[in-house]
Amino acid sequence: MAILPVLEYPDPQLKEISEPVDFEKEDLTEIIKDLLETLYDAPGCVGLAAPQCGIRKRVIIVDASRNPKVESRYGLMVLINPVIELQDGEILAREGCLSLPDLTANVRRAQTIRATAWDEHGVQRFIEASDFEARVILHEMDHLDGILFLDRVSSLKTDVFRRKRYAPKGGDKGGDKGGDKGGTSESTGKPEGSNTGKKDALPSVAAVGEKTDGAS
Ligand SMILES: [Zn+2]
Repeated sequence: MAILPVLEYPDPQLKEISEPVDFEKEDLTEIIKDLLETLYDAPGCVGLAAPQCGIRKRVIIVDASRNPKVESRYGLMVLINPVIELQDGEILAREGCLSLPDLTANVRRAQTIRATAWDEHGVQRFIEASDFEARVILHEMDHLDGILFLDRVSSLKTDVFRRKRYAPKGGDKGGDKGGDKGGTSESTGKPEGSNTGKKDALPSVAAVGEKTDGAS
């Protein structure tokens, strides 16, 4: 088991498309253990995709239950070769990402999804997720296709925010470990409305995720 280093933008590997897993030939046991360890080492992180750790396999892990402010129907899920079968509705909400630790952004995604995937035992799963949990799944699945949340924002000027806690000087305790506050690094789900409208205030950023490591 090991905590894996997480690639950060603009690492070109984050733009690559990951390969499907062949269950007959591949044993993912160690990879999944390492991904889980890496996820749970990142406070507040609710999701991680294998390619974020330089593993170009279609494997994601999601645990929306790490965000105490939202509902999680499934808790921890290991999703291999996931496919979205249906998307419905639309919600704009704030997201973070371990691979973009200094930024959050308002991203429009489906409110509800249906997906299929295989779990770590090779058993097919059928998932119906909504709101935050759906958002995390979609965010992580994007990583499998080399897509980052910056690719989905409507405007880089108005929908992308610098994390407050990342003050330039070292040693700033800024975000504190409050940890669980809203967020996740990987995907927060905070309604975008939380932005106060002041131009530079970035008020909701702190709520989004303390983690530097943004999860997904
Ligand atoms: Zn991410």
